[in-house]
Amino acid sequence: MAASPNFISNSADVVIIGGGLAGLAAALDLRGRGHQVLVVERKQYPFHRVCGEYVSHEVSPYLGRLGADLAPLGPATLTKFQLSSPAGRLLGSPLDLGGFGVSRYRLDDFLYKLALTRGVKFRLPATVADVTFDAAANRHTLTLADGHQLTARLVLGTYGKRSALDRQLGRSFFTQRSPYLGVKHHLRLPGFARDVIALHNFRDGYAGISAIEDDKLCFCYLTTRDNLKRSGGTIASLEAEVLAQNPHLADILRHAERLYAQPEVINEISFAPKQPVEQHLLLLGDAAGLITPLCGNGMAMALHGAALAAPLADQFLRGQLARPALEAAYAEAWHRTFGARLRVGRAVQRLFGGPVLSELVVGGLRHWPAAVRTLMRQTHGVPF
Ligand SMILES: Cc1cc2nc3c(=O)[nH]c(=O)nc-3n(C[C@H](O)[C@H](O)[C@H](O)COP(=O)(O)OP(=O)(O)OC[C@H]3O[C@@H](n4cnc5c(N)ncnc54)[C@H](O)[C@@H]3O)c2cc1C
Repeated sequence: MAASPNFISNSADVVIIGGGLAGLAAALDLRGRGHQVLVVERKQYPFHRVCGEYVSHEVSPYLGRLGADLAPLGPATLTKFQLSSPAGRLLGSPLDLGGFGVSRYRLDDFLYKLALTRGVKFRLPATVADVTFDAAANRHTLTLADGHQLTARLVLGTYGKRSALDRQLGRSFFTQRSPYLGVKHHLRLPGFARDVIALHNFRDGYAGISAIEDDKLCFCYLTTRDNLKRSGGTIASLEAEVLAQNPHLADILRHAERLYAQPEVINEISFAPKQPVEQHLLLLGDAAGLITPLCGNGMAMALHGAALAAPLADQFLRGQLARPALEAAYAEAWHRTFGARLRVGRAVQRLFGGPVLSELVVGGLRHWPAAVRTLMRQTHGVPF
C-alpha cells in the first residue's frame, strides 16, 4: 500500500523539523535503522531554493549507504574550477575531489519520494511554531502553526539558515540583521562547458555558475542589500550595472536564456557562529551553522550532519545512550568536523568583493595554483 504523506498519528520516535537535505538524509538514515520518523516541512515538494546546486563528491559514499542513487536525475559531473576577479582576470584549477550539479527542485523531491517509499511519514505543508521539552517526561512537544500538537522522544532541527524557531530558542544571531542577499536563476547557455564550476567576483559579491541536469545551468549569486539599493533597487539593474562589470558575467547575462519568469531571491543570510544543540534539539545543516556559499560545501555539510547525528540518535532511541551523553557526543563531533571549515569559509569570504583585494587575490593565486587547491581542501571535507 502506498504511504500517505500526511501523517495522522500525533507521536513518533523522532520528529524532524524541515525537509531539506539535512532533514531528508537524517529521515532516511534513522528509518533505515528501524525508527518511526516524522518530517514536518512547511512547503510542498517539489520547489525551488536559492542554492548554487554544486555538490561536493565527499557525499557520495553516504548517499550510497542511504541507497540514494542519483544517476536517474542526470546530474552534471564537475571536475574543473574557474575563478575571476571583478575586472575579469581568470584563473583555472582542477577540482581535486570534484562534484556534481543537480537542481534542488529535483534532488529534494527525489529524496522525499525515496523516504516515502521507505516508510518515513511526512506532515506537509506544515510549519512548526514552537517546541518545548518536558524534562520529567523526557519528551518534546511540538506545536504546529495550525495549533496541532505532536510529541517525540527526539527532535532534530533541520529547518535551515533562519526560522522563527530561532527566535523562540533565543539564538542571538536572530536579532542581528544580516546584509546579505542571495539570487538564483536557471539558465540555458549553449556552449558553456558542462564540467566547469566558475566563481565570478563582482563589486560586493560573487556569482557561481555550473551545469545541472538536462541542458540547464544554475546561476546563483550572493551580494548585499546595499549593493542592490545603490544600483537602482531591482535585480535587473543590479545585474546590468554591477555584475556586468565583470566581462565573464556580462557575457553570461547577455547570451543566456532565463528559464524562470522571476529569479528566486532570499535575504537575511547569516554566517554568524551558532551552536549544534539548543534546548535539547540536535541541530543539523544550516540550522547549526551556514558556511559561506563561495565554498560550495553547505549541502555536503547538511548531509554530513545527518551522518554524524543518526548513529548517535539511534543509540539514544535504543536506550544505549542517555540524553546528556547524546548531546555532548553530537556537539563534539559537529565542532570537530565543521568548526575549522566554517572559520576558513568566513575568512576566505573577506578576501573577495572589495575591488582591490579581489584583484590582488586572484592575480596572486593565478601564479600559485597549489594555494588554490589548499584553500579548496580547507573549505571542503573528505568523503564520508
Ligand atoms: C546563495 C547561496 C548559494 C549556495 N550554493 C551552494 C552550493 O553551490 N553548494 C552547496 O553545497 N551549498 C550551497 N549553499 C548552501 C546550501 O544551500 C545549504 O547549506 C543547504 O541547503 C542546507 O541544507 P539544510 O537541509 O540545512 O536546509 P534547507 O535546505 O534550507 O532546508 C530547510 C527546510 O526547512 C523548512 N523549514 C524551515 N522552517 C520550518 C518550520 N518552522 N517548520 C517546518 N519546516 C521548516 C524549509 O521550508 C526548508 O525546506 C548556498 C547557499 C546560498 C545562500
